[in-house]
Amino acid sequence: MKPKMENQPNRGWVRLLTVFGTYLLITVIIAFLIGGVSGGFSQFFSGNSKEIPVSQLVEDVNAGNVDKVTIEENRIKISYKNGSEAYSRKEINANFYEMMQQAGVSDISTKVQVEVASPPISDFLETILSNLIPIAIMIVFFLFLFRLAGKSAGGVLDFGKSNAKMFGKDTPKVSFKDAAGVAEAKQELEEVVDFLKSPDKYRRLGARIPKGVLLVGPAGTGKTLLARAVANEAGVPFYSMAGSEFMEMLVGVGASRVRDLFRTAKENAPALIFIDEVESIGRQRGRSIMASHGEQEQTLNQILVEMDGFSPNDNVIVIAATNRPDLLDSALTRPGRFDRTVVLQLPDIVGREEIIRIHLRNKPLASDVDITRLARLTVGFSGADIENMLNEAAILAARTGKKEIDMRDISNSATKVKLGPERRHLQSDADKKMTAYHEAGHAIVANRTPGMDPVQRVSIVSRGMALGFTEINPEQDKYHQTKTDLLNRITALLGGRAAEEIVFNDATVGAKSDLEKANIIARKMVAELGMSSLGPVAFDYVDSLEQTGDPILDRSKYSEQMASKIDSEIIQIITDAYKRAKDILTKDRILLDKVVDALMVEETIEQDKFEQIINELSNA
Ligand code: ADP
Ligand code: MG
Ligand code: ZN
Repeated sequence: MKPKMENQPNRGWVRLLTVFGTYLLITVIIAFLIGGVSGGFSQFFSGNSKEIPVSQLVEDVNAGNVDKVTIEENRIKISYKNGSEAYSRKEINANFYEMMQQAGVSDISTKVQVEVASPPISDFLETILSNLIPIAIMIVFFLFLFRLAGKSAGGVLDFGKSNAKMFGKDTPKVSFKDAAGVAEAKQELEEVVDFLKSPDKYRRLGARIPKGVLLVGPAGTGKTLLARAVANEAGVPFYSMAGSEFMEMLVGVGASRVRDLFRTAKENAPALIFIDEVESIGRQRGRSIMASHGEQEQTLNQILVEMDGFSPNDNVIVIAATNRPDLLDSALTRPGRFDRTVVLQLPDIVGREEIIRIHLRNKPLASDVDITRLARLTVGFSGADIENMLNEAAILAARTGKKEIDMRDISNSATKVKLGPERRHLQSDADKKMTAYHEAGHAIVANRTPGMDPVQRVSIVSRGMALGFTEINPEQDKYHQTKTDLLNRITALLGGRAAEEIVFNDATVGAKSDLEKANIIARKMVAELGMSSLGPVAFDYVDSLEQTGDPILDRSKYSEQMASKIDSEIIQIITDAYKRAKDILTKDRILLDKVVDALMVEETIEQDKFEQIINELSNA
């Protein structure tokens, strides 16, 4: 297989520019040479004859001695009747006849023969050049512009090239062993490896080898990783391209890139084509004026045409990945195209534990690192989040000069991955106290609500947008959320605002996102999940997904009266939850103060410390 260089399309350009530049340079040099030489000749010839003032010329003409004058550009050649010659200067733009008239010779052409010399070759070239050079400069300028545009947009002029990346022998090898928590997906893809390795085994039995496999799953679940693993395990070339790379400024570019990509893959078959983010081909309407709708359609059609055009012996398999399968054009998933769909999910606790082990393989660990507990701490993390967390932990440990990564490093990094980096900005003590009451409010309400998940950390260190945070994580993954769970979550979300009101009889803007989240949950409960006194009715629902490919909540399916009933149900849920939160905190006011005291000193308290405060108080 011949590795395809990524910068290959650019080479043509360099060559073109070089040729053009050289041509230009040679032209200019020749022009100067000729101009210089001819100038030298005329200088040489004029060197023999004398120069006379115009007044002398007039005298000679009037005396009838002159046989002929030849008008050149900036001088006048005078041929006398006696055979001698002389020159007289003339302004380049001056008119010879006017010159003579002013000097008192009114009818020069009747007295002498007047001839106008054809311009010397240097003049001729000069004229051409003075016209050509600006044009040439403009051409070069435009070429340069196009080249720039080409760089930013992936080549306005390199229409046809797919600039697909090929992972050759030098890219790090990944195998199925590097991915965990995605057992079913691995199993399906192992089949694909087998198709690529020994297609005859299947053909002999008349089986149709799939042309396309669609990997569907949230960001960071290992779609790219698995596609590379397939190529690597099958030992075939891997052409990878992101869907957005097909979308260009010019209609038709995407389609010709698809053609190029498929042709290259077929030439190197057996091979694997990986199209990442296919949804950007399936749909990108209205996002960009340049990448028009027509462009997508053409690109999509080209992919379909190429896939339909695979002959049974092509042995090229296309893997496409998306995290928005709902946006995909249904034409893609028809049999004979992407006829297999492999679904990847966020890893469960067992999967997370395995992924953690994979990414801790070459990292020195302190003895306090408890992988099972880490797996519990990382609910909702994708494989990429976990990888990111452990890498951050290693950086953190290295920065503080440690030889090993300990549990604290990892749990700090987990929070960072979840909430963004710490932002230590100066908060006044009054500010800090407000934040502390708000966060302690969340934590205590969560702790006192039966069935709530345990509070993992409370902190008044600001992170990302938040001034403080309270982490509440489930002990294990839950696949069902009940109405009680949702109501509990709303109550805990309102615990922050409730504490502000109880303690300061005031409200801060810090509760904004809590209120928004509470509202979203409440609205879902009433209008989508049928969890209110309005009964098990879904008012907001996704309609006509098949027709438009656009998931739009249809809010026009119910009357104005029903809309206002829904609104009052939402308000009811939230006010009830708020009252619950306030009741808890009023009763537990002493605990609230104690947790705030601890936060003011330590800024961040972990689960064990938090539970210790609670136990001390209830034992006292
Ligand atoms: P996606 O393409 O689904 O967005 P990637 O394959 O790009 O996700 O994942 C990014 C990185 O996250 C991988 O290189 C790998 O280090 C890590 N990762 C993701 N999923 C897994 C997994 N299931 N097992 C192990 N590592 C994973
Ligand atoms: Mg990816
Ligand atoms: Zn809050």
